[in-house]
Amino acid sequence: MSTQASPLDKPLKLEDLLQRNIWDVDEDPHIEIPMDDQEGLRKRALVHLCPAGCYTMIGDKVLFSYEGCFECGLCRVITPEDKIRWEYPKSGKGIQYRFT
Ligand code: SF4
Repeated sequence: MSTQASPLDKPLKLEDLLQRNIWDVDEDPHIEIPMDDQEGLRKRALVHLCPAGCYTMIGDKVLFSYEGCFECGLCRVITPEDKIRWEYPKSGKGIQYRFT
C-alpha cells in the first residue's frame, strides 16, 4: 500500500486551485470598456461579480484591468453590446487552466 501523499488528502480551496493557472498576458487588451462615457454600465455588478476581480471602482468610474481575466464571459453578458469590446485573447495568450 502506498504511503505517498495525495493532493486530495487535504481540503482544496478555490483560491489555491486558481493560483495554479498560468497567464500569458497579451500586450493588447482582449476586453475594453469606455472610460469617458460609462452611462449604462452596470458598474457595481462588474466589480462584485467578476470572479477575477478585474473591475475596480474609483470614485464614480469603473476601471478595468484585463491581465488576470478568467475569460468567463460574465462581463460580456451583463454589459450592453455597444459598451464593451470583448474577444478571446489571441491564440496561445490569456489564461491556461491547470486542473492538477
Ligand atoms: S470575462 Fe470574466 S473574468 Fe474576465 S473580466 Fe469579464 S467577468 Fe472578469
